[in-house]
Amino acid sequence: MITLEERQVRLRTNAADKQEAIRQVGQLLVDSGCIDAGYVASMLGREKVANTYLGNGIAIPHGLPENRDLIQRTGIAVVQAPAGMTWNPGETVHLVVGIAAKSDEHIEVLRRLTRVLGDKEQVDRLSRTTDPRDIIEALTGERPAAAPSPVRSGEVLDYPNFFDTVIHNKTGFHARPAAVFVDLARRFQSNIRVRHDDVVADGKSLLSLLQLGAEHGAAIRVSAQGTDAPAALQELLAAIESGMGDEPEEQPTPTATGGEPGWTPQAGVKTINGVSASGGLAIGPLRQYKQRPIVVEDVPGDPMTEGNRFQSALDAAQGDLGRLYEEVKTRLGSGKAAIFRVHAEFLNDAALIGQTISLIYSGHSAAWSWQQAINERVSQVQKLDDPVLAGRAVDLSDVGQRVLRHLVGAPEEQPVSQDTPVILIAEDLTPSDTAALDTDAILGFCTAKGGPTSHSAIIARSLGIPAIVGAGNAVLDLSNGTSSILDGSAGKLYVNPADADVQGARNAQQQLQAQQEVANAARFAPAITSDGHRVEVAANINRAADAPAAVAAGAEGVGLMRTEFLFLGRDSVPSEEEQFEAYRDMVRALEGRPLIIRTLDIGGDKEVPYLNLPKEDNAFLGIRGIRLCLVRPDLFIPQLRAIYRAAAYGPVKIMFPMIATLEDAQQARAVAEDVRKELNAPPVPLGIMVEVPSAAILADQLAQEVDFFSIGTNDLTQYTLAMDRLHPQLAKQADALHPAVLRMIDSTVQAANRYSKWVGVCGGLAGDPKGAVILTGLGVSELSVGVPSIAAVKAEIRGSSFADMQALARAALQCRTAAEVRAL
Ligand code: PEP
Ligand code: MG
Repeated sequence: MITLEERQVRLRTNAADKQEAIRQVGQLLVDSGCIDAGYVASMLGREKVANTYLGNGIAIPHGLPENRDLIQRTGIAVVQAPAGMTWNPGETVHLVVGIAAKSDEHIEVLRRLTRVLGDKEQVDRLSRTTDPRDIIEALTGERPAAAPSPVRSGEVLDYPNFFDTVIHNKTGFHARPAAVFVDLARRFQSNIRVRHDDVVADGKSLLSLLQLGAEHGAAIRVSAQGTDAPAALQELLAAIESGMGDEPEEQPTPTATGGEPGWTPQAGVKTINGVSASGGLAIGPLRQYKQRPIVVEDVPGDPMTEGNRFQSALDAAQGDLGRLYEEVKTRLGSGKAAIFRVHAEFLNDAALIGQTISLIYSGHSAAWSWQQAINERVSQVQKLDDPVLAGRAVDLSDVGQRVLRHLVGAPEEQPVSQDTPVILIAEDLTPSDTAALDTDAILGFCTAKGGPTSHSAIIARSLGIPAIVGAGNAVLDLSNGTSSILDGSAGKLYVNPADADVQGARNAQQQLQAQQEVANAARFAPAITSDGHRVEVAANINRAADAPAAVAAGAEGVGLMRTEFLFLGRDSVPSEEEQFEAYRDMVRALEGRPLIIRTLDIGGDKEVPYLNLPKEDNAFLGIRGIRLCLVRPDLFIPQLRAIYRAAAYGPVKIMFPMIATLEDAQQARAVAEDVRKELNAPPVPLGIMVEVPSAAILADQLAQEVDFFSIGTNDLTQYTLAMDRLHPQLAKQADALHPAVLRMIDSTVQAANRYSKWVGVCGGLAGDPKGAVILTGLGVSELSVGVPSIAAVKAEIRGSSFADMQALARAALQCRTAAEVRAL
């Protein structure tokens, strides 16, 4: 518990202004041995970047997070100003509570403070009291505060849309992250609640949030009600996961997904194709893992007895989850373990439990009632439009099974082999299954179902287990013990390979491991070829929260920010202000690195239901990208305004998508120029995506109209080869390494060079190690790739000389097929 002594309270200050008051409260902290003198300057510094006025006459000055090392021990001090002093225009402060927080003990003080704050009379009394013990008692809890008690969840239920998560911030849900949360929550119309245990807070009130007292590792539920509830929840979840402005606890480490083992088996080996979930090679026998279905019979029982059984099963499941959390935390860190806190939180769901109990009391068994209730909830969640929330269905189902096992007395199944290490085959794996995998016993896994963004895939990547998902039901017919090689990067499972293949794969495995270690360690170094040619490696991102992760993964900037993601998964167009804030946040997070913002690229496969755009027979050939923007100034102009405003905060470039003609580029430029003049903003570079063959062919003309090109190989491939990029049967042939596509890229680069214009590539080919090398050889200046591929792509560039890459590119241009290019 934090202590506050009389010497840490200064009554009736003579401070003339806010700065002087901060100096005085800082000095009290220095004198009581809480901080070094330098922290006072940090407190004054923070005031310049953040407002620490809490409300109702109280301010809580504290230092910048980077100066935390100047704190000797957590402590608080108070300066009282009975006459009040102006903190900011319109804000008068009577109590200045200086905080030096080394850990999260101060959360308790904030919690008390917010209760005091809710009680104007008490604030008045403390502002005038001549006895410092009144203040000490109010802040440390010796006397119960008279503030309104927090709302109990039994009285106010969660809203119907919600997510459960865990606070990762080292010092809990303290003032700064709470302020970020509130700021974000207020941008949505919906009502937002945050619940921690049985305390419910209004998500739009900082005071209310601080009252939660949610410390590091606390499980919380965020629920929303209103037209934009799904979008609000999606954004809030992203904000919480990215640390709400605090330094992230763990740096994302680039995975092997960007790298390939550079190994393929001899022809003729039986191959099962799936989707890459986690890179790397695994070699060993297969083992089928099948969760036995839990059979539940509805045998009516005495409601009291069934109710008690239900309660015991819930308690037992909570016990399991607590142990699992601790175990995974020890092995993989609290971030990865947090999913089990979320599972535990599901078991506190009042509606779920209420429904089960009411079924029990209408004469059903506890197991049957629970199964009904959980199944209903799972299918509701599965139906949600929002993929992030819908993804929680698997977690809900996982926790449902856990309780059910306790109710029917079924043993916990262990997908863990105790003997020879195996490659696990399963229909699907839940996060509990995946986390329970013993990495000594499981070499890799391949599931018939599932997608690369499931929690199981995420856990597999962090465990470093090669994995394939979505391989189809054929894998379920393979016998236990079958020898196989799993190539997680290529998404392929080779069955019964020859001895020579096994040996080849073993060699590749060792090389891959060595390469990954080198690449990760060098992710912040530039990508320079062995003969000194530098290529910029940037990131493709979709939202503001991705920018810090990109920087942490070694990105030298953002080469493509897909703004349409700000428009997707919500009910209305984001306002200019909302967009401005998102762009500005990215610019800030990039700390001077360049940011290319692509204007809205809607249409084709990216549908925005609320825009009610007419259905098109050929969506990819219709009103998409810039064509839509030019006919919808109501969308285009606010977006351009937001971008120009954000450009005041750092280096921003604007890029127009789907340019097919010269007129497209000229018109887009003209609209942007009008907006810029209206705002009196300085010019920013204006570029285009080269992703339509006509743009590549006409690149010499376009180069005279624009400042830069970025080649979108995803669309350029589909339009050049006339193969729908989403077509399931054509997906494998629609290869961006096709010489026809490479020739388009080559002529684009040549044309740009003639006019000294810069060319980047932001399509998927840039993140493919082979593609990165050929593109560099073709002369592109920048490769913009998915965040996990950054380190691997940089390493690939460093691995050869520019001269060799140029020779390879020349050879590729002479190939007749994509297969010939790949064979190079
Ligand atoms: C592309 O087409 O290559 C590209 C980067 O744009 P998107 O994938 O967003 O269409
Ligand atoms: Mg495109």
